[in-house]
Amino acid sequence: MSHPTYKHVVVIGIDGAGAFIREADTPHFDRIFAAGAVTYDALASNPTISAECWGSMLLGVGPEVHGLTNGIVSSTPYPVDSPFPSLFRRIREVMPDAELGSYCDWNPITFGIVENNQNVSTATARDSELTPMICDYIREKKPTFLFCHMDSVDGAGHGHGYGSEKHLQRIHEVDELVNDVYTAVCDAGMLEETLFIVIADHGGTSFNGTGAGHGGWTDGEKWVTFGASGKTVQTAYLEAMNIRDLAAIVLYAFGIDTPAFDEKGWTAQIPAGLFADEEIPAYRDISHLTGAAPRISKVPHTSELI
Ligand SMILES: [Zn+2]
Repeated sequence: MSHPTYKHVVVIGIDGAGAFIREADTPHFDRIFAAGAVTYDALASNPTISAECWGSMLLGVGPEVHGLTNGIVSSTPYPVDSPFPSLFRRIREVMPDAELGSYCDWNPITFGIVENNQNVSTATARDSELTPMICDYIREKKPTFLFCHMDSVDGAGHGHGYGSEKHLQRIHEVDELVNDVYTAVCDAGMLEETLFIVIADHGGTSFNGTGAGHGGWTDGEKWVTFGASGKTVQTAYLEAMNIRDLAAIVLYAFGIDTPAFDEKGWTAQIPAGLFADEEIPAYRDISHLTGAAPRISKVPHTSELI
């Protein structure tokens, strides 16, 4: 274990936002990450479906390794002895007193990707109702690692098309929720010691007359947003990143060693330019690993069509 650079990491995942945050009116996102690292060219996992993608981010391995699907994470608790532990288990192993939270609009993330024996504080509700709970939790517990998931943007994408006016409007509204969480971090006096991250899992297609979805490998589906803000984050546009890198970034923030890079296992890396640290290995191109057969998801999660 090397020296931790942060006491807290707060991640807000915005389901189905893709790279469309760039086109939406998001004054809070823009302000929070103005001096931070941003990209709209983070590569999703293939297929571009939630379980596959959130699984990649929380486990540091791709769908070609973890094998999770929406059906599996909705029906099967994540194995507590998996050879691919979640971030929660990896953090708990070295920080037994850490306060860990998973607050997810789409609860299968907590149920099917996070081990249920790691004393993780959890809650689930539609994102607008969940956010006040997240803010209370932050102010009260000052969590070490908090993962939040907002699902309504994906619902708007399914209903009206990704990149449509209503999809961009919902991104604008969720930007307010992001600001609520950020404000809670400030109120808790944590900001200086917090790595604050916003990330999307996948984008989606435009409306084709009957609906819209994701699961394929088109530009609108596979390119997503990532933003990071923190005291050691460089002001940068990240040219190369995969969403699974979130796992490496979170562990790095806490000074926790990551497993060795292994194409049959751990493939999360620290994107070049995110942190000024000469010890960080050169970034590897892993695009050849995204060979899973695309499946198309036309089914929204818990959110109503907005
Ligand atoms: Zn979806």
